[in-house]
Amino acid sequence: MTRATRALIDLSALRHNLQLVRETAPASRVMAVVKANAYGHGVVPVAAALDAEAFAVATLDEAVQLREAGCDRPIVVLQGCHDGEALTLAARLQLQPVVHHPGQIAALESVSLPRPLAVWLKLDTGMHRLGVAAEDFPGLHRRLAALAQVQQPVNVMTHFANADTRDDPLTEIQIQRFKATVGRLPGQHSLANSAGLLGWPASHADWVRPGIMLYGISPFHGVAPAELGLRPVMELRSRLLAVNHYRRGTAIGYGGRYRCEEDMPIGVVGIGYGDGYPRHAPDGTPVLVNGRRAPLAGRVSMDMLTVDLRGQPEARAGDPVVLWGPDLPVDEIAGHAGTIGYELVCRLTRRVAFDYVD
Ligand SMILES: *Cc1c(COP(=O)(O)O)cnc(C)c1O
Repeated sequence: MTRATRALIDLSALRHNLQLVRETAPASRVMAVVKANAYGHGVVPVAAALDAEAFAVATLDEAVQLREAGCDRPIVVLQGCHDGEALTLAARLQLQPVVHHPGQIAALESVSLPRPLAVWLKLDTGMHRLGVAAEDFPGLHRRLAALAQVQQPVNVMTHFANADTRDDPLTEIQIQRFKATVGRLPGQHSLANSAGLLGWPASHADWVRPGIMLYGISPFHGVAPAELGLRPVMELRSRLLAVNHYRRGTAIGYGGRYRCEEDMPIGVVGIGYGDGYPRHAPDGTPVLVNGRRAPLAGRVSMDMLTVDLRGQPEARAGDPVVLWGPDLPVDEIAGHAGTIGYELVCRLTRRVAFDYVD
């Protein structure tokens, strides 16, 4: 029998979320962000299921993987290309690198390419990670506009730093800075990640770049996916390996972090940090056993975790367990474990088998 610890990926939920993107930004085209193996959901099946006008990945390797899997849509490489060899590969595969640094322009200037490359010049409007400063932008844009190696016109983008916080004034400032610097330059314009798309209609422009919302995870702190009309795509499942009864005061698991408050049943679930469940999850983190919440009790170990089954003493070995999914938002687990849903879905390990359903 195969292991019960599996991730179920609901492709119809993925398409539903893309439809919500389209309804929210009806005048924009969609660059679906599928970096980091589609946020841990599996890039090849996810890209095949998503009818987006383009895809975006972080690295050249990710773009090559997607092309080799048969994706024939435009693919934007968010970190861009850093030397002639990478640029030549990008041109051959018709990838679209982001240009965020003058060194990348110098590399373009000194390479001859099999065909011109479509590029995205990235303006830093306040994220202060990648992107060129507003004062350098016109000169760098002119250099790209003069190059035969570059498909004209040059496209322009920026990225939001704080759009996950709806009342943060920086996003509006970033939109204004983009307008002031880029103005009516020809080429395609793109600003919005998921939070920008949902929270700032003024950021929609020619292309939106949703990532997290496609996977049915809310980009806003404290807002559940259902409130936004999103359907979670991943359900992480396991089963009870055992139900044991312990006396009051019994210490459970490594370090004895949890002590039984009374004579009580403890369920052992066949998933642990070796599968990507967060080891830092504290006692009380919810787990669904037979669809009902049971609190984590004791330290998460590599292959197992333990839950307090006082709420359902009838639970038995073999009963189904859900760690996160449509009925238990991953962000809720992330909140307990001191991280964000993005990280939890990204870091499932290879030991977890994936099933794709439609
Ligand atoms: C990751 C990323 C996105 C998508 O962000 P979400 O918050 O997941 O929607 C968009 N643009 C850039 C440049 C990114 O790096």
